[in-house]
Amino acid sequence: MAQVKFESHAERVEERIPFQTLVHEMLEQLGEDPKREGLRQTPARVEASLKWLTRGYGMNVDEVIGDALFEEKHESMICVRDIEIYSMCEHHMLPFFGRAHVAYLPNGRIVGLSKIPRVLEVFARRLQVQERLTDQVADALCDVLKPLGVGVVVEAYHLCMMMRGVEKQNSKTVTSALRGAFRDDGKTRDEFLRLVHGGSFAL
Ligand code: ZN
Repeated sequence: MAQVKFESHAERVEERIPFQTLVHEMLEQLGEDPKREGLRQTPARVEASLKWLTRGYGMNVDEVIGDALFEEKHESMICVRDIEIYSMCEHHMLPFFGRAHVAYLPNGRIVGLSKIPRVLEVFARRLQVQERLTDQVADALCDVLKPLGVGVVVEAYHLCMMMRGVEKQNSKTVTSALRGAFRDDGKTRDEFLRLVHGGSFAL
């Protein structure tokens, strides 16, 4: 395949190799025959699927939350548990998937509950590392809600660990991000961890 020289952004867009050509080339380099029946539509399918799986690049938290913020005096912890997540590891472009548990302690303002999984989508649907995903969700909720605290725990299985390399098929990676009272106040943290561990998730 011809080498393409990239000089400026504008030029890069002009000369960009079509996505499906890249997939076609990849199939050939893997030793496949992209012309055989089962693979003929594969470049188109891979393009559609990868663009969908990384659609978070085109999303942002403000848009997702919209006007679903409400003034409310509720003072207790709000926790949404067992939110399914699917993401892609940026090191291998292989999926990692599992559950997230998100909680916050409001400070006069709450968010529509269905918006919390959508905030996760903004960050999960792009190339990620689980640690950054966890932090980004916590920081986004802090920005939007200005709460007394936020806690996020993500438990995930990484196909790059399960299918290749170490082949540790049952190891689950757990990450957490604690902000405000979740970090500084033992009682709040304990309540959160008790809610999170109230049930365990297994494949
Ligand atoms: Zn990986």
